[in-house]
Amino acid sequence: MSKTKSKKITLGTKEWADSNVNCYSGCSNNCKYCYAKKMAIRFNRKTEETWRDMEPNHKAISKGYAKRKGRIMFPTSHDITNESLFHCLMLLKKLIDARNEVLITSKPRLNCIKMICNNFLKKKDLIQFRFTITSKENELLSFWEPGAPLVEERIQSLKYAYEVGYKTSISIEPFLDEDPFELVEKLVPYVTESIWIGKMNYVWAKNFDQNNKKFYENIQEITSKENLKRSVKVAENYTQSNIRIKDSIYNFLK
Ligand code: SF4
Repeated sequence: MSKTKSKKITLGTKEWADSNVNCYSGCSNNCKYCYAKKMAIRFNRKTEETWRDMEPNHKAISKGYAKRKGRIMFPTSHDITNESLFHCLMLLKKLIDARNEVLITSKPRLNCIKMICNNFLKKKDLIQFRFTITSKENELLSFWEPGAPLVEERIQSLKYAYEVGYKTSISIEPFLDEDPFELVEKLVPYVTESIWIGKMNYVWAKNFDQNNKKFYENIQEITSKENLKRSVKVAENYTQSNIRIKDSIYNFLK
């Protein structure tokens, strides 16, 4: 296990890349813990109802992209879905043609990942996939990430990218199972880079239905100091050297 220590504490996506690129506003995955959604609503760009409607940002799609310093993460405030795939491919082509190193993050849909893999096969060294797989249980995924694919499709996407020779990594953030290491074990054979574990930092719990109380109570237990400490300890003694704990967990435990 490698602890991500640095003099300057970095949070969120800054831990992973030097800059971000996005080309849609809104995200049909509509995750209940989404920070981008929270910000979009706070600054009146979206409402709780309209967040799931994905609107293309034509300026971001049509402009040119030069070579940037450091790695670019794409996307960070929406996903690559069937609806956004065409524009995402256009944008990715510009980033990659400019020889940028790109970290592609997604709650992956198999057909989208196949398209990306097939389109950029010759330049695959510039790409690393970071697939978000937060639980092995579809009940939890369907509650917290209602518009995102089920676990089987995410794992199939991971296997596909791995088998055609791409660099693959995983984000288990926020981890939704009490013990995230059962999921880690399933994913490890298909991961060439790191597996990141992070906690839920923000919960969209406004006016939640009492029938869903168990999910909110459960996440409180999962993000309790006791459970986080236990997870850090398991990670430290883990046989796999590519397990990383996000700074948000270390900061919370300070
Ligand atoms: S996939 Fe990311 S951007 Fe989309 S709703 Fe979920 S957390 Fe937000």
